Amino acid sequence: MILKTFSEVSAGILGQTVAIQPLISKIGGVQRLALFDLDRTLIDLDTAFRRWANEFTEQRHLGPEDLAWLVSQDRDAHPHREAFFTRVRERFALAEPVEELWAGYRRRMPHLVQCYPGVLAGLAELRATGWRVGIVTNGMADNQLGKLRRTGLADAVDGYAVSGVEGIRKPETGLFEVAAQRCGTNLAEGGWMVGDNFIADIQGAQTAGLRTIWIDRGTWPGQKHQADHVVAGIAEAIAIMRDRH
Ligand SMILES: [Mg+2]
Repeated sequence: MILKTFSEVSAGILGQTVAIQPLISKIGGVQRLALFDLDRTLIDLDTAFRRWANEFTEQRHLGPEDLAWLVSQDRDAHPHREAFFTRVRERFALAEPVEELWAGYRRRMPHLVQCYPGVLAGLAELRATGWRVGIVTNGMADNQLGKLRRTGLADAVDGYAVSGVEGIRKPETGLFEVAAQRCGTNLAEGGWMVGDNFIADIQGAQTAGLRTIWIDRGTWPGQKHQADHVVAGIAEAIAIMRDRH
């Protein structure tokens, strides 16, 4: 709060906010902007994927070893879905083109995903205490927008930016900037980014000038990281941001 007061006074003296931004940055003051990744940060994609794999296995009369194979393929570094469905098509000698299999997955997933426990309440709490809250996510427009709407997240944040809509992907700064703008601000006064992907979320956000909280879900064991904080889940991330302001 001291920093906020200082910046407001300085802005009044200098007549323009832009003149004091380097000083704010230097002394560490950042605005209350909290950006979040979507998949495996706010929503439990792994549980949803297992539900989808169960359905897929039943519909195609596959066996338990096939179900285990599907889950293992997903767990191995979370391959791009186009690559994943290329492997699925080959393994089960499916007639449908990869694009059709993938499109079916994208139609179904919004109905299977849920937020991790406490996410909606945590975001509401941030917004109630003066934070702007946004989502920055890579993915196809139909799938990501469907997930945002079905989980209630679309109405629980100030704005969101989906790579498949905007034509730019994390870790590029542009997608973070779009999300900040949708929240009624910009990246010039900093903010926070919370995500599970070490490159897209953490490195991308650092390049964009944001403070970072990495949710370590075990995808990169032993990874040497440069995130400002490392947490096991979203509640811990929200507590850190709240405590720093
Ligand atoms: Mg993620």
